[in-house]
Amino acid sequence: MENKTNTADVIIFGAGPSGLAGAHELVIHDKKIIIFEKDKQVGGISKTVKFKDCYFDLGGHRFFTKSKRVNKLWNKTLGDNFLKRPRLSRIYYRNKFFNYPIKPLNAFKGLGLINSIQILFSYLLIKLFPYKKEDTFEEWTSNRFGKKLYKIFFKTYTEKLWGIPCTEIQAEWVAQRIKGLSLLSAVKNALLPDKKSKIKTLINEFKYPKYGPGMMYNKMTEDIKQMGGKIYTETEVLKINHTNFTVDSVTVKNKNAEAIEEVFYAKNFLSSMPITTLVKRLSPSAPEEVIQAANNLTYRSFIAISVILKAPNPFPDTWIYIHSPEVKMGRIQNFKNWSPHMVTNDEQVALGLEYFCTENDELWNMKDEDLIKLGLEELEKIHLGKKETFVDGFVARVPKAYPVYDRTYNKNLEVVKNYLDKFKNLQPIGRYGMFKYNNMDHSILTGIYASENILGKEHNIWQVNADQEYHEQTKK
Ligand SMILES: Cc1cc2nc3c(=O)[nH]c(=O)nc-3n(C[C@H](O)[C@H](O)[C@H](O)COP(=O)(O)OP(=O)(O)OC[C@H]3O[C@@H](n4cnc5c(N)ncnc54)[C@H](O)[C@@H]3O)c2cc1C
Repeated sequence: MENKTNTADVIIFGAGPSGLAGAHELVIHDKKIIIFEKDKQVGGISKTVKFKDCYFDLGGHRFFTKSKRVNKLWNKTLGDNFLKRPRLSRIYYRNKFFNYPIKPLNAFKGLGLINSIQILFSYLLIKLFPYKKEDTFEEWTSNRFGKKLYKIFFKTYTEKLWGIPCTEIQAEWVAQRIKGLSLLSAVKNALLPDKKSKIKTLINEFKYPKYGPGMMYNKMTEDIKQMGGKIYTETEVLKINHTNFTVDSVTVKNKNAEAIEEVFYAKNFLSSMPITTLVKRLSPSAPEEVIQAANNLTYRSFIAISVILKAPNPFPDTWIYIHSPEVKMGRIQNFKNWSPHMVTNDEQVALGLEYFCTENDELWNMKDEDLIKLGLEELEKIHLGKKETFVDGFVARVPKAYPVYDRTYNKNLEVVKNYLDKFKNLQPIGRYGMFKYNNMDHSILTGIYASENILGKEHNIWQVNADQEYHEQTKK
């Protein structure tokens, strides 16, 4: 039965950056909104977890955007608490640090004369005999850096991240991330630095909230509530009820309310839950071929092993890419360097040890204490920390963090998109919500534009982040 408390103009699934930004846009236009968030905390992947006086991101979250609109929202939300921070992030490979993006002199010095000569020859060879097609990560990157440098600087890390061979990963992903960069352009840039390309490739400052990204999204939540929006945490959207491609209600369940499901009604719906889940929660069900296409879309997940060490700050980087093949670890975040306010105790450091995996694989299912043990052992193995300095820690498993751009994803996503496009009042938004490698600013823009569509505009939200201008050249 409909009543006043379970109706809204717009219902939003998920209180990550996209859902919150969408809600914010709607409440400033006097719309009645309700957000359902499955987690006990808002912020989605961009939340910050407070643990024993230290603040931990799930992966470090750099605030960088070319969108004036997103910048304005971020600045307005946090004011002076939105700090400007220096960036240093390097690659760690066989006990040495290398600059990222690659600086030729630094790379050649670190790799030694023989490797450097091999790199130059392999670069010349690929220039003479390039791959004719550039469909895969391996083809695209080898054509720009030569096979030798590709193997050292790109292959191991990328395969740790995606869990599939570089010959299976579509070039589209890397072309977005490191557009315009090649061994030649890196050498040119080193010899004749030009201001413009410096801006594109080496952004060495970024904005960051005093207490991590969670601070931004907690404040946005407060602002939305103050303007009349409702946000129910620990409440999962289980069913999306529709007739003739019009959604009329959702069935939700609060984690703490034993076995009670409730139905909420609205005129419009925004969904930032995984697009693959959305399709399967429609009632009546989507056609079999749409479900099948959704089942063929896969995500990569990651585990953040967060540890507090009683030790001096081990390195000046905000984060380090671990290319060394002898460990499973993919990246290390050093939160004191992200913001000094993240760790209040001067004698301690807070590190996030990141492992990429697939939901329910061996790593995912390991016990928390075994994961912490593995993280500390690997940290010691690569000489970046000592086991005996461990004070405390916790493990966060982050499902579906990376949509996998494999050979068939485009075809499958098209099937799902075409079906969802038929719905008159349901829009998918965000990162896993659209199966798109969206950063926070892209995710936020999809939320804002989808809300503006409800208010009468006609944005094609799938165009956000299709324009490669949006990207800065980085590896994440
Ligand atoms: C390791 C890593 C590092 C990153 N670093 C950066 C960075 O440096 N800079 C940057 O700009 N971006 C970064 N990103 C991207 C950024 O995290 C995402 O773009 C952003 O969080 C996506 O926002 P979203 O709202 O789409 O989704 P999410 O943040 O995933 O939020 C979705 C929310 O929906 C909720 N939900 C899911 N299913 C349901 C359901 N059935 N019912 C109710 N709620 C549900 C979830 O609990 C979640 O809170 C990074 C991502 C990763 C994985």
